[in-house]
Amino acid sequence: MTAYDIVIRNGQVADGTGKPLFAADVAVKGDRIAAVEAPGTLRGDNEIDAAGKVVAPGFIDVHTHDDTALIDNPTMAMKASQGVTTVVCGNCGVSAAPYVRPDVGHWMSLIIKKKENLAKDFAGFAAKVDAAKPAINGAFLIGHGTLRLNMMGDDLNRVASPAEISQMRALLDQSLEQGAIGMSSGLFYAVSNAASTDEVAEVAQPLGKWGGVYTAHMRDEGDHILAAMDETFEIGRRAGAEIIVSHHKCSGRSNFGRMKETLPKFTEAMKRQQIAFDVYPYIAGSTILRTDMLERADKVLITWSEKVPGLSGRDLADIAREMGCSMKEAGDRIQPAGAIYFMMDEKDVQAAMSHPGAMIGSDGIPFDAHPHPRLWGTFPRVLGHYSRDLALFPLEDAVRRMTSYSARRFHLTGRGEVKPGYYADLCVFDPATVIDTATFEQPMTPAAGIDTVLCNGAIAWRDGKPGGGRAGRALHRQQMQDEAKTA
Ligand SMILES: [Zn+2]
Repeated sequence: MTAYDIVIRNGQVADGTGKPLFAADVAVKGDRIAAVEAPGTLRGDNEIDAAGKVVAPGFIDVHTHDDTALIDNPTMAMKASQGVTTVVCGNCGVSAAPYVRPDVGHWMSLIIKKKENLAKDFAGFAAKVDAAKPAINGAFLIGHGTLRLNMMGDDLNRVASPAEISQMRALLDQSLEQGAIGMSSGLFYAVSNAASTDEVAEVAQPLGKWGGVYTAHMRDEGDHILAAMDETFEIGRRAGAEIIVSHHKCSGRSNFGRMKETLPKFTEAMKRQQIAFDVYPYIAGSTILRTDMLERADKVLITWSEKVPGLSGRDLADIAREMGCSMKEAGDRIQPAGAIYFMMDEKDVQAAMSHPGAMIGSDGIPFDAHPHPRLWGTFPRVLGHYSRDLALFPLEDAVRRMTSYSARRFHLTGRGEVKPGYYADLCVFDPATVIDTATFEQPMTPAAGIDTVLCNGAIAWRDGKPGGGRAGRALHRQQMQDEAKTA
């Protein structure tokens, strides 16, 4: 009998495809799953008893801003503690690389805290990630907003010139060649808001050639969301790229219930194009503090303020009362800052999450002083709260939306299933107790019920703390495509 490096014994396997749980032992050799066999048949140097537990593929967080968190916080506790083994970075139009300017600057400081993490090209950045030996993997999108900053400097309130578009396109082309997996845009944000549909579609052209994906934080997620969806679908179509709409939501009280319009629109468009979207399991969103967003939120919490650090975690309405001014004025006084906005309808969130095109992404913001609890809670919350407690969908389907479906949409070859030959990215959790513990008051607490997390065969998380395994890597687009051909 072969001795494997690790055997996870006596568990119920949720293999990621959505098929019903089955009893099996899972063996790991090196960085791969070597065998999935009947209980009791496999022996390993290290045996992990998973009786009463579920053995699932490691979760793929398809929507993150963890680009440099992988370098600065390589144990990645906020994600490994949830069972996440791969993070897709560079969403919403902002990526750490390529970045040719000498200083980090205000916009990029949202995802880069240290100047030494800057890299002029994607290959240089990926090398920094690999050198940091993170506990989990990263896959990287190139931000259209970051490309704009590179080529247009601070002159961003206009459409890029033809020369600038061709420079951005060349930079994207080079980055994809060097291993990035696609491009993201964030037309909602000031950095990119002046960009036209044509600009984005023209910059995005290399996606078709390299098989890169296009992800979009759309221009509008409120009153004009249907037009924004049309724009997104057009950009993907013109670039020849598969589309992932980011953090799908209908934002603001006047738009509550409009999933009844957006979801059928997705269903229709999915017949003609490859389209999917990600969702996080909360009725509150989080981003920079924008006073034009105050009106549509029922409540606003401050996540950080450079000017008044003591305000992190506090309600902006209370701050305004103490200052004796309006919320807008209070917001202006504490800028630059970040905020959490309660602006979604619970029924909408549930409808989005259950749609056939939906996968799970946290959109957690790793460096916020008082972050949205999604940073630490997203995946266990879907498993414990939405699947188990509310029975929104079966556990196997919840796992599928965090693993195989996500891997397929982002072309992460060899991940997202418990299957011999696949990478040994695994999460062992207790289906009876798994739950998020991070709250809006206490947002940085590890989930309950996550037992053991393996990434590339190394133990990234175990018994409530980092497991010492640091086998994560920057996933390379070409390498994954080559593996897909030989698989
Ligand atoms: Zn976004």
